[in-house]
Amino acid sequence: MGVRVSPSAVRTAVQGVYGDRVKIAVNAPPEGGRANRRLVEALADWLGLPSGDVRIESGHGSRDKVVAFRGIEEVELQNRLARLIRGELPPRGREMDDRKALRERLLEERERLNREIADLDADLSKSLEDSSEESPYDQHMAETAGVTLDREVDLTLEENARAAMTQIDRALAKLENGSYGHCDKCGRAIGDARLEIAPFATLCVDCKRLEERNR
Ligand SMILES: [Zn+2]
Repeated sequence: MGVRVSPSAVRTAVQGVYGDRVKIAVNAPPEGGRANRRLVEALADWLGLPSGDVRIESGHGSRDKVVAFRGIEEVELQNRLARLIRGELPPRGREMDDRKALRERLLEERERLNREIADLDADLSKSLEDSSEESPYDQHMAETAGVTLDREVDLTLEENARAAMTQIDRALAKLENGSYGHCDKCGRAIGDARLEIAPFATLCVDCKRLEERNR
């Protein structure tokens, strides 16, 4: 089977037919064979085959690949492929795939926040040093006020970063225990649109608004 792969996609899915090839988006980067592995996993899962029976025959380093299948009658294979392309076969790997991608996205964001907090900490201790070294009498009032303001801004930024990190940890925990995508307060679905923008959301829009109003 000819396949045209779009690597680094948000999710792994069949996108349709591209000339004589099946177009498949793969939720993995084209590095170290990761996209190839994800493609084999997904096809095996969708077609109900052991992954050992799906093999990339050629095009390992290209977007255009030829995939071969074993252990399945040609007629049955064509039948399943046709249903897969029409979107009739449930992509069973999708939920797992989404969870994996989400986890990676949340961990990346967590890593970024960690760096931000470290930078702010460094700034803060530097500004503390600066202000203790110099006698306040040697400085213009405006300069002193500027330093104090900078410090306050840094403190607020750090507080926000820490709060965001707590929320990401909560979202990661929800991903593990299977409650991800459901509101912590009312238990209703948070909704794909909201999760797309705010993957770390742990409250639905209504509960989030209530919480903000009561703050
Ligand atoms: Zn709610």
